[in-house]
Amino acid sequence: MCGVFGIFGHPEAAKLTYLGLHALQHRGQESAGIVAREGEQPFGLHRGRGLVADVFNEQVLGGELRGTCAMGHVRYSTASGPKSDAAQPFSVSTARGPLAIAHNGNLVNADALRDGLEREGAIFSTRSDTEVIVHLLARARAPRLEDRLREVTAQLEGAYSLLVMHEGGLIGLRDPEGFRPLILGKVGDAHVLASETCALDLVEGTLVREVEPGEMVHLTQSGLRSERLYHMPDAERRACIFEMVYFARPDSRIFDQSVYDVRVRMGRQLAKEAPVDADLVIPVPDSGVPAALGFSEASGLPFRHGLIRSHYVGRTFIEPKQSIRAFGVRLKLSAVRSVLKGKRVVVVDDSIVRGTTSRKIVGILKSAGAAEVHLRISSPPTAFPCHYGIDTPNREELIAAKHSVQETAEYVTAHSLQYLSQPGLHAAVHDGPEEARTFCNACFTGRYSAGRDTIHQRLPILDQINPR
Ligand code: AMP
Repeated sequence: MCGVFGIFGHPEAAKLTYLGLHALQHRGQESAGIVAREGEQPFGLHRGRGLVADVFNEQVLGGELRGTCAMGHVRYSTASGPKSDAAQPFSVSTARGPLAIAHNGNLVNADALRDGLEREGAIFSTRSDTEVIVHLLARARAPRLEDRLREVTAQLEGAYSLLVMHEGGLIGLRDPEGFRPLILGKVGDAHVLASETCALDLVEGTLVREVEPGEMVHLTQSGLRSERLYHMPDAERRACIFEMVYFARPDSRIFDQSVYDVRVRMGRQLAKEAPVDADLVIPVPDSGVPAALGFSEASGLPFRHGLIRSHYVGRTFIEPKQSIRAFGVRLKLSAVRSVLKGKRVVVVDDSIVRGTTSRKIVGILKSAGAAEVHLRISSPPTAFPCHYGIDTPNREELIAAKHSVQETAEYVTAHSLQYLSQPGLHAAVHDGPEEARTFCNACFTGRYSAGRDTIHQRLPILDQINPR
């Protein structure tokens, strides 16, 4: 759960990065940071806890962050817990010059790599996976930075969409399985790399294409150069399906699909799989809205706003402490009595994680007078934790890990509860049949990627230069 944005060759690089990060704020609210470079000057870096709008001001953006190349990061802790010392980007000086790194994703072998590095004398200042990458990069030997990155990525397992800034340019690369999105765009003549297209839209940029899984894109004075670090056949790709279900913004296009359209299809499919005899369909705003529209369309039931969301509280899940979360639902959502009174309602949400939110929502709807509350979820039961960067709790805390659908329905006090099926979910993202799936669904199935060993066995690293 993080977002990255970088731009090369623009006179207001840091300001556009600030705006890009603002558009990616949903990907992390704990901390934000920007690093910028002007000519031969040392990198300017500004990071802080909190929201993008609170961390930066005009003075910082036009002062220490001046320059034509900048990149930034919004962070929600996954691996290292909520500590501001792990705010990104990391900026270091190495024997070969300054480097900054921003990382979205989670490495599954970070602990093993860290142990190895510590045994060799490396000193870490944070628990962040990204610092592991920094140390590996500082030790890599190849003369060209691209080749050092190749050396480093050969040791990494798991999910990473990385931005790397150096004296001569900006590099973006994606892990060979392509868990996290990374897109390439343009603002005027300047190139942009960002987690989602919604960041491009805000800065009036245009989408060029996605950075491919296993691809490294290098932006320098001489233009854009692309190298394929790993060549993955489609069947080995593992785009995160939960980005489509919940995480990405609906106005974004990632994994070559409109997130909004996918969510509407999820809702349509859900209506076919789990119809209800009811009076109306209401979404849990904001995350359930597109799926509820799809459900309404396919079922013929009218769509109404039965819950209103306050825009002045963040997503409740983002607060790491359970005690605050339950409280947050009440702060965030309130019911429209005139819509609900005496009605049998289908309430559509994107997922159930711990079950706390759904239980509160069902309670709120009933106390506003709903006669029946039927909960429909536009993804399958989340029964397994994510190791690739979505912040899901331990298996013990996932309600679907220990309880049947019926037991969950009882816990959340719904008249009925049904989830979208796994084939239904994959159909909605236009994925292939089971043997040829290109999305990671480990949070629903527990089938984690076989990882790099398999990749290496099947496909040795190709040294192919692939300019586009
Ligand atoms: P709960 O079942 O109370 O744990 O919360 C489930 C709600 O949190 C769902 O309605 C989602 O909209 C939202 N949600 C699901 N996964 C995440 C996540 N990884 N981070 C933040 N919010 C999430």
